[in-house]
Amino acid sequence: MQPRDLSDHVAYEAGRGIEEVARELDRDPEEFVKLASNENPHGPSPAAAVAIRETASNASSYPKAAHADLTTEIADRWAVADEQVWLANGGDGAIDYLSRAVLEPGDSTLVPSPGFAYYGMSARFHHGEVREYELSKDDDFSQDAETVLESYDGDRIVYLTSPHNPSGSTIPLKEVVEIAERTDEKTLVVVDEAYGEFADRKSAVAPIEGRDGFEARDDIAVLRTFSKAYGLAGVRLGYAVVPDEWADAYARVNTPFAASELACRAGLAAIDDDEHVQRTVETASDSRAYMRDNLETHVWESEGNFVLVDVGDAERVAEETQERGVIVRDCTSFGLPDCLRITCGTETETERAVETINEVLAELELEADGNDTGVTDA
Ligand SMILES: *Cc1c(COP(=O)(O)O)cnc(C)c1O
Repeated sequence: MQPRDLSDHVAYEAGRGIEEVARELDRDPEEFVKLASNENPHGPSPAAAVAIRETASNASSYPKAAHADLTTEIADRWAVADEQVWLANGGDGAIDYLSRAVLEPGDSTLVPSPGFAYYGMSARFHHGEVREYELSKDDDFSQDAETVLESYDGDRIVYLTSPHNPSGSTIPLKEVVEIAERTDEKTLVVVDEAYGEFADRKSAVAPIEGRDGFEARDDIAVLRTFSKAYGLAGVRLGYAVVPDEWADAYARVNTPFAASELACRAGLAAIDDDEHVQRTVETASDSRAYMRDNLETHVWESEGNFVLVDVGDAERVAEETQERGVIVRDCTSFGLPDCLRITCGTETETERAVETINEVLAELELEADGNDTGVTDA
């Protein structure tokens, strides 16, 4: 027996963890800071941590009330109907629900390149094809309708990421609407706002609901997660906001109880903890500014909790930086072998990352100069 032909499938490459790196280098985990996975440097909302502890004794029950309560709470926040909120096991789980609800075998999904790997993975899991549109480095990964529509060919799902991972660029809402307008009626435009809290911008929920001067649309969905601003990456909780017209599909596509009791209770506590989110967003904003001002290389403008940095040889720089205790994300797997993505840390973490990367870059430059001045391979 063999699984089906998985040769088109690519394995997800996650940012590396402290334990993993420390063990490999035979060092103490305490020596490292990890700025590789866009996690929250302040940890989870303290209220969520309490809720998780308090829920422990209830772990034997299936999540029913908690799921319904969190759905209502989120729906109230966005002023949409409960049915329009598709709770899932992380934002990734919500991507799967949209694939399940929309894709027939052979249908294509249009995804950004560089971009978030799971869009394509999910499409392939659901027997779909994957096509790409390019966001150009030379154009600072700028996003507009034309760039996406140039590559559009009747695809069933089009993914937009705003703020975009790994560049941090955003797409204006009027461009989102233009894409929805100019694509076929059958095309769903998914706006992934995993980093939405960090950007001072309106959500694409507005054109779904026909607010802020937009006409209501049934072909846009928004993706959100508790993994980033709420600091709950480890509990796996996210959701999609979908148009009212087909929101009832959730009942037929969702994996029962995929958003766990612990996750839902944590989400309920975190969503009320405005102080934690605000502090997180401020830290990210300060950290972004500090990195842009102090890294001695090109740093792209970002509206997420990370920045993309041009370093020449990302693999080498990431390795050297890691040796010195700072773990950052080499963007080779995103198709950007000369870029690093650095997550916004606390003030101390950010300063340490900047100092370390500048040090490594200076040393590599010296080394390169040495090679240029007469020293040959012979
Ligand atoms: C982190 C992230 C997600 C969702 O991650 P989950 O942990 O599954 O919620 C979705 N899209 C992008 C672009 C992300 O970076």
